[in-house]
Amino acid sequence: MARPTLARIDLEAIRANYRLAKGLAPGARALAVVKADAYGHGAVMVARALAAEADAFAVACSEEALELREAGIQNRIVLLQGMFHPNELEDLARAALTPVVHNREQLDWLCRARPHRPLEVWLKMDTGMHRLGLAPTEFAAAHARLVACTHVSGVVLMTHLARADEPGHPATATQLQCFEAHARRLPGARSIANSAAILGWPAAHGDWLRPGIMLYGASPFGESHPSAAALRPAMLLESRLIGVRELTRGEAIGYGGRFVCTRPTRVGVVAAGYADGYPRHARDGTPVAVNGGPSRVIGRVSMDMLTVDLSEHRDARPGDPVQLWGDLVPANRVAVASDTIAYQLFTGLSRRVPVSYEKTG
Ligand SMILES: *Cc1c(COP(=O)(O)O)cnc(C)c1O
Repeated sequence: MARPTLARIDLEAIRANYRLAKGLAPGARALAVVKADAYGHGAVMVARALAAEADAFAVACSEEALELREAGIQNRIVLLQGMFHPNELEDLARAALTPVVHNREQLDWLCRARPHRPLEVWLKMDTGMHRLGLAPTEFAAAHARLVACTHVSGVVLMTHLARADEPGHPATATQLQCFEAHARRLPGARSIANSAAILGWPAAHGDWLRPGIMLYGASPFGESHPSAAALRPAMLLESRLIGVRELTRGEAIGYGGRFVCTRPTRVGVVAAGYADGYPRHARDGTPVAVNGGPSRVIGRVSMDMLTVDLSEHRDARPGDPVQLWGDLVPANRVAVASDTIAYQLFTGLSRRVPVSYEKTG
């Protein structure tokens, strides 16, 4: 392998983050959310690393779940979007998958089906996210229909929070009250909490946590938050300098000449660009680490390269290591400087970037 751009994934960090989530809610179980190829970290590798201790996994759809089954994963797997078509049900039963039911169509398909094996179902209430889920007022009736199906072996009650990443926001309290009010008389385990709620809303913990982004070591809170400080970044995106040059005052760097030197400036060229998944919208000043020390993007990110300020790195030379995000450069800081979120950085890692897995700690 010649091009030095590489993502290193620390599976032990993912395990530690899973344990951290469970430690925050003693007694609760946790679905490790590995949808979208485990947020770009490799679903099969992550699921294998967690298989011995994860209470269950969650993915978006049966395609993602079957990839895990084919790799030998036997844990319970919840499909967060459930079925897309009634014909899917027999496959779900065969692979022992657990669909979320979030609309009336899915409810009808499920109640009419005669799968050869019973399945567990997660029934979703829309308490204010207004994306998926049954209306609170139709929830109890939907629950009764499922319970009456002989091929439904159990029903877990769930909802999803829209603003749990905003500490203390009243919308979350309103959603929790709505859920409680309309699920109160119904039996079954409860599942409410994504990473932000696990870290910031103990009242939302319920019986089944759903940690996603926190498994990968990024805080769900855009800015720093004390309860997220113990998370361990799992993905290190690394490259190297492939060029170093000295520019004088008034000279511009790269496409569009976005950055103009205001003084003599030592500039490093890094072998990573937006075709690797680095955000093209990274502003001047977006943090990077060169030889383990702080530096910043200057100039527009291009397809295969980006440019950094080496003014504080007089000795930096081609071949020196650059970290684009990871333990030295929090992905959230890169995300904020690029008008996006760490979720998008991770899931946007491109196929061109080789991935290596390691176990540290
Ligand atoms: C993706 C997802 C999660 C995980 O969310 P994070 O913010 O990554 O923790 C939890 N629940 C549902 C329904 C999801 O779709």
